[in-house]
Amino acid sequence: MYFFYKKKLKNENMAKVNLNLLKLKKNYLFNDIEKKVEEKQKNQNLEILNLGIGDVTLPIADSVIEASKLSLDELKSPKTLKGYGPADGYQFLKKSIKENDYKDIDIDLGEIFVSIGSKYTLGNIGDLFSADNCVGLCDPTYPVYEDSNIMCGRKNKLFYIPLLEENNFKPRILKKHLDIVYLCSPNNPTGTALTKAELQQWVEYAQKTKSLIIFDAAYEAFISSDEVPHSIYEIPGADEVAIEMKSFSKTAGFTSLRCSYVVIPKKLKTKENISINELWQRYINTKIGGIPYPIQKAAEAIYSPKGQLEVKAIIDEYMKNTLILKEGLNQIGLTTYGGDNCPFIWCKTLKNLTSWEFFDLLLEKNIVTIPGSGFGKCGEGFVRFSGFAAKETIDKALTCIKKL
Ligand code: PLP
Repeated sequence: MYFFYKKKLKNENMAKVNLNLLKLKKNYLFNDIEKKVEEKQKNQNLEILNLGIGDVTLPIADSVIEASKLSLDELKSPKTLKGYGPADGYQFLKKSIKENDYKDIDIDLGEIFVSIGSKYTLGNIGDLFSADNCVGLCDPTYPVYEDSNIMCGRKNKLFYIPLLEENNFKPRILKKHLDIVYLCSPNNPTGTALTKAELQQWVEYAQKTKSLIIFDAAYEAFISSDEVPHSIYEIPGADEVAIEMKSFSKTAGFTSLRCSYVVIPKKLKTKENISINELWQRYINTKIGGIPYPIQKAAEAIYSPKGQLEVKAIIDEYMKNTLILKEGLNQIGLTTYGGDNCPFIWCKTLKNLTSWEFFDLLLEKNIVTIPGSGFGKCGEGFVRFSGFAAKETIDKALTCIKKL
């Protein structure tokens, strides 16, 4: 099972390994794909049509870039110089988040923690909880939830909630008790989103069974349907059971800049009645020396009137391209899901091929996707297409797929 080389005990006096790390899969999914693509490109001048990893392709909004440049200028003068910032983020950014993203929702600034990307928060939040908690993960799932729980020693405490075609890829409410449940809506990888009524059932489940929901709303900015909530806190009582995360990577193309936030309501308590909000504050006081000031100024600019317009135009373009991709795949005769409130399309493979077989077939035509089985067993038979791509790339890919 262990993937690192199992050398004989020849380094007996050296530090011992954290055995939990040896329980991870050999490679992180997206690195595997990158390696395959690199291999394909080796010594060839191929045009790769990347509809895979889901990184951004449109330039970052002008107001964001300008704000970060101005903030760097502030560092030139002793009067405006900044040192280490607060571990939970500057008040100016928290205020903008509150006034825009939680206008009609009762949360206070002390419940918002700015972070260096949701991957950091998701990768570390599990450290707050005992290793013997039973954790529910959707299958397929964004791999960070699973890996980070394995790293915390919960490999044998993971319970998978299947996302199936017959349920329209919605996680069904369980009879089983889970201490912690990860929900992602709009969903990576299936591209589908939970309606308010569906999410409400999970909030009620958590209230009844005293579970904690970790709600990943990284793709919230892409929601266009009125039925789909932008925050779990739109559901009454969710502040007693849920942590929520959002990422500027997705909202405003911050994959290189790195900034996100997490909301941890003060009402949230562990079984021992310990405040989860206070625990996280204590945790990051040790682990984060503040998020870079220019990055937080850049994030603040997203909420300026000009920034809002620019960011919306970028999101609209991604969603327009996602629609072109989805309609194109459907016209070719492929069965697709998602893509309405999220720039991901979950596509059934051709001729019952496995996910990897279909991935390889597409890669032969220089098209990169992500094999669904890489996100979990229930992802078998699907691949994920990303709409974070230029229209030209999508058009070329569709022309190639037509000829398959
Ligand atoms: N959550 C989901 C569902 C994601 O797909 C991603 C990144 O792809 C993240 C979180 C991480 O976002 P960030 O760039 O803020 O670390």
